[in-house]
Amino acid sequence: RDSRQLGFPNSENDGGHDAKNLRVKLVLLGDSGVGKSCIVLRFVRGQFDPTSKVTVGASFLSQTIALQDSTTVKFEIWDTAGQERYAALAPLYYRGAAVAVVVYDITSPDSFSKAQYWVKELQKHGSPDIVMALVGNKADLNEKREVAVQDGIDYAEKNSMFFIETSAKTADNINELFEDFVDYATSRLPPDIL
Ligand code: GDP
Repeated sequence: RDSRQLGFPNSENDGGHDAKNLRVKLVLLGDSGVGKSCIVLRFVRGQFDPTSKVTVGASFLSQTIALQDSTTVKFEIWDTAGQERYAALAPLYYRGAAVAVVVYDITSPDSFSKAQYWVKELQKHGSPDIVMALVGNKADLNEKREVAVQDGIDYAEKNSMFFIETSAKTADNINELFEDFVDYATSRLPPDIL
């Protein structure tokens, strides 16, 4: 049953009101350099830090958003770079993750292939009910685009994933990524889960 939960009622605030307070573990995956840390920093701090270095090791941030129906969602965001080096930790990383965001860079076909690898990994090691998003980042670099929007859409559709293109640099679609993805995720799970 645990593995099917999208959110866990937050005991501090769950006073029997209509509003729900959900806690959601979100894992970020994708080639190094695609902008995972920048997406999280943009979402959590509203900043784009061009000096942001390629992530080494793992980091953890959380952010709470309010949805229209006064549900709040607290994302616990797990951002780990170079998971291949930590293959033994992968099951721990995926455990309890209700949602996963797989990121590629629209200027890098390699990163798109790598994203597909991560999707397969999640299908193998993640919870059977994990809900995944495919994110094409660096959409501001459209003139250098090497992955067609349609290729992202098609792959996401085939694998029952939410799809969006974002720019951590311009903030385009960053809030939408998290808000619309949560809507999408909740609509895909049986109502008794939440
Ligand atoms: P990570 O290894 O996936 O966490 O990637 P980072 O977040 O460290 O970003 C890698 C590089 O890409 C950095 O130099 C960022 O400045 C740059 N970057 C991240 N997001 C964007 C974006 O949306 N547009 C552009 N143009 N550059 C970005």
